[in-house]
Amino acid sequence: MADPRGFLKYERQDNPKRPIEERRADWHELYAPLTDPAVREGTVTQAARCMDCGIPFCHSGGAGCPLGNLIPEWNDHVRRGEWARATERLHATNNFPEFTGALCPAPCEAACVLSITSQPGPVAIKRVEWSIAEVGWADGHVVPQPPSNRTGRRVAVVGSGPAGLAAAQQLTRAGHDVTVYERDDRLGGLMRYGIPEYKFEKWELDRRLEQMRAEGTHFVVHCEVGGDGEGALSVERLRAEHDAVVLAVGALQSRDDRTIEGRDLEGIHLAMEYLVPANRECEGDGPSPFTARGKHVVIIGGGDTGADCYGTATRQGAIGVHQLDQYPPPPQTRQDSRSPWTTWPYVFRTPPALEEGGERLFATAVQRFVGDDRGHVRAVELSSVEVRKDADGRR
Ligand code: SF4
Repeated sequence: MADPRGFLKYERQDNPKRPIEERRADWHELYAPLTDPAVREGTVTQAARCMDCGIPFCHSGGAGCPLGNLIPEWNDHVRRGEWARATERLHATNNFPEFTGALCPAPCEAACVLSITSQPGPVAIKRVEWSIAEVGWADGHVVPQPPSNRTGRRVAVVGSGPAGLAAAQQLTRAGHDVTVYERDDRLGGLMRYGIPEYKFEKWELDRRLEQMRAEGTHFVVHCEVGGDGEGALSVERLRAEHDAVVLAVGALQSRDDRTIEGRDLEGIHLAMEYLVPANRECEGDGPSPFTARGKHVVIIGGGDTGADCYGTATRQGAIGVHQLDQYPPPPQTRQDSRSPWTTWPYVFRTPPALEEGGERLFATAVQRFVGDDRGHVRAVELSSVEVRKDADGRR
């Protein structure tokens, strides 16, 4: 049984981060290593804050964990120091918990019973999840699980992002002969080229790919299904050569407004035009053509992708970074009228990248881009945004 008073004894503490000056100067993971003995011991204390609720809202697919992670079970194992058992229960519902531990926004924490009020704060579920995964790898509890029987069926998975890889791993372990097709030169989809290195070091992705290869999953890169370039594979051939096909492709269509005056000036880039070569540089593919070094950078968009550009520009050596959010700043605490517990709260958040310098402007939009006589963007003219509410008070 859980410690029913654990949350009264211990304050919530997230993963400790590396000092700002240190992490701004490199591309390594911004958090301190989770397998560090002191950090690991702190995670045990955090797991002890869990009450093992009669109805664990954290675990529910409705508002809590979309994967149905068995959160109270592995919290209790960690509290007892049973890391191997915690690793097994975590992987019962989640193929790649270090991916989600690093990158999921944690709706489980928003749905935690300890999140009903602003204090004492929810269980640090994300920290516990990520720590179990890393300790599991470090202690040798995560190993390849090749199937004991083969079905003789061939399955194609199109796309090697997290969804495609998870599907491929499950199907391989079920005994099927699985091949993952990826159009890019490396595996991982947006995990590889969209997520900055400082948020998720790609050797962690490679570590999982090695596990999958050892289990028997096959991978083909440089292969666009339905394309007509070199190495492309027709849909007809894909269907003819496999018993089943899983489509796990993403949507790379950007939201671009070419009607804004000056949009065609040099120096204005879409997020993926900027993040992909920055990640390629970290992979050793040479300098990005779009470095922010020595430049003033304006990021349009206040979401996670904007924050990824922010942290990337900071590490590339930008002189200054400003992020524009068209919405006014959200409230500091959950407003029940707008986002009651257990829903995802509409509250003010500061991603780690935005702690590292620069400035965020709310209720601000681009009116037009101003160029110099070489056709390069020189300034951005801004306007304030007023969000009107309807008669019911909705925005
Ligand atoms: S809702 Fe929070 S306190 Fe309850 S079981 Fe889940 S993590 Fe533990």
